[in-house]
Amino acid sequence: RVELRAVVKEFGATRVLHGVDLDVAPGEFVSLLGPSGCGKTTALRVLAGLEHATAGVVAFGGVDVSRVPTDKRDIGMVFQAYSLFPHLRVLDNVAFGLRRRGVAASAARRRSGDGLDLVGLGHLADRYPHQLSGGQQQRVALARALVTEPRVLLLDEPLSALDAKVRVQLRDEIRRIQLRLGMTTVFVTHDQEEALAVSDRIAVMDAGRIEQIGTPEALYLAPATPRVAAFVGISS
Ligand code: ATP
Repeated sequence: RVELRAVVKEFGATRVLHGVDLDVAPGEFVSLLGPSGCGKTTALRVLAGLEHATAGVVAFGGVDVSRVPTDKRDIGMVFQAYSLFPHLRVLDNVAFGLRRRGVAASAARRRSGDGLDLVGLGHLADRYPHQLSGGQQQRVALARALVTEPRVLLLDEPLSALDAKVRVQLRDEIRRIQLRLGMTTVFVTHDQEEALAVSDRIAVMDAGRIEQIGTPEALYLAPATPRVAAFVGISS
C-alpha cells in the first residue's frame, strides 16, 4: 500500500502541492491525471523520494518513508525521456540496477534476459539503444524498472514521446504486465483516454490538489465538478 498523507510541496515561495492525500492499494493501478503544471510529476517525485515533501507523510506498507532515499524504497521508475545509457548494450542497460544491488554478473544477465523477454525484446539484447525505435527503448526502460521486482512501479508519462499507434500498444502491454506481476502502480499522464483505458482508479488533479479520485466509471458517471467532467471527456 502506497500513501500520501496531507503532502505539501513548496519550491521556495511557490506551493506546488496543497495537501495531497492518495491511497493506492497493493496491486492497484492508479493514474494521476491532470493538465500541465498541476503537480502530477511533483507528486510522483515525492513518492519516489526524488523530492522531500515540505509537510505531510509518504508511507509504503504503513511505514513512513519520508526520509528513505530513492534506492531504498523498492520502486521501479520509467520516465518520459528515454534514460538508457547510450554506451551500454540493451542487456547491460537492464542489468545495471541489478549489478548495483550486488547481483552477480551471470545472474544479472540471466534475469535481464528474462526481463527483456517479458517486454518482447529478448532478440535485441545485444543492440545499443540508438539502434532501437522509441517504443522499443521505452520497453527496455520498462524491463529495467521491472527486473529488480519492485513492489511499486512509478511511471511518469512513459508514452508521451511515442507516436499514437505505439502509444496504444505499449499502454496495453504495460497494463498486461502490471496485472500479471501485480506491482502497485502510479501512472502520471495528461491524456484522459490513456488513463481511462488502463486504470483501476484515476486521481484527477488540478492546481496542486486531487479534485476527485475514483474508478473510470465513477468519474464518468458522477464527476464531482465540471472540471472533472470536462477532463474525463464529458462536456457539461
Ligand atoms: P507537466 O505535465 O507539464 O509535467 P505536471 O502536472 O507534472 O506538469 P509538475 O511538473 O509537477 O506538473 O509542476 C507543477 C508546478 O511546479 C509547475 O508550476 C512547475 O513550474 C513547478 N515546479 C516543478 N518543479 C519545480 C522546481 N524544481 N522548482 C520550482 N518550481 C517547480
